[in-house]
Amino acid sequence: MLPICREKQSQLSRQYRQKTLAHAILIQGIEGCGKDALAQWLIELLICQQPLATNNLPEPISHACGQCKACLLRKSDSYPDHLLLKSENKTLGVDDIRRGNAFLEKTAHLGKVKTIFIPQAQIMTIAAANALLKTLEEPSANSYIVLITDDLDSLLPTIISRCAVYAIRPMVGEALLAQLKSSNPHDSQVSSDARLHERLNDNAFVNLSQLAELTDDVIFQEYQTFNQCFLDFLYFGQSESKVLSQLVDNKHGLRWLEKITCNLVRQSYLLIEAEQITSVVNQKISVQVLNQIYQAIISSNKLIKSYTQANRQFVGEQLLMTINDIVRPST
Ligand SMILES: [Zn+2]
Repeated sequence: MLPICREKQSQLSRQYRQKTLAHAILIQGIEGCGKDALAQWLIELLICQQPLATNNLPEPISHACGQCKACLLRKSDSYPDHLLLKSENKTLGVDDIRRGNAFLEKTAHLGKVKTIFIPQAQIMTIAAANALLKTLEEPSANSYIVLITDDLDSLLPTIISRCAVYAIRPMVGEALLAQLKSSNPHDSQVSSDARLHERLNDNAFVNLSQLAELTDDVIFQEYQTFNQCFLDFLYFGQSESKVLSQLVDNKHGLRWLEKITCNLVRQSYLLIEAEQITSVVNQKISVQVLNQIYQAIISSNKLIKSYTQANRQFVGEQLLMTINDIVRPST
């Protein structure tokens, strides 16, 4: 399990033991973040009849035993109470989802739980999503639907609001540094900026190639412009209306804001690690303040994602006001 997934694994494991898992579990994260492995671990655990717990600190993690009847059937691809809903085409259609709904209506063969796995939730058509919605609203007993996606923006808000969402985010700040240091115990002293950069690339950054701004030139330009506007706002209190209009009209707006702030935090840490004290002193905004801003952006992002009726204009205005208060408390 990749380090950035461990927190969610602990959380899911705890909820499994406490029997508080939601019927629909949506795991979100960019490509390469390890969400597939996390989903696989969870499904195997749900299927297993005699799960084990490993003594991880600070709390145990549950795992499938790999030995019981259900585990053996799963390994030989003949476990009857699990359904994989994926498509070789560009979309997952309503017929696929109906197949899933029919599967859930039947009694489990092995008498435990029934599980459905949708590895690319974002390719569901609108009709498919609406068909799934009915099932999410009236879940059958002992059934679990695990969905994963790398593009939450493409999912219907009504779907998102009926799932427990587990978002895997790249680490920032202290957590990132701690992980970098622990990942290479033989090299306890961070000696150079270049070295740290190298390690960041090796360990912490995941494959970002699927993101629109990295693959589409027009969107990349928009991203660059937005980046500059936000920096103007952050450092000089300018361009607020431009930032707001992007937050309201651009579906990537909030995620971009998250990414830009995340990058600023990383850059600050790189400077500190490289002991470029003068640069740090010259910085106008401290890492602590950047972290505060990052938390505010994540909260707004959650708000937008969890309420169908959330008013983007209102959330955007509130967020910029909050950031203003954090950066310029006196004004
Ligand atoms: Zn088992």
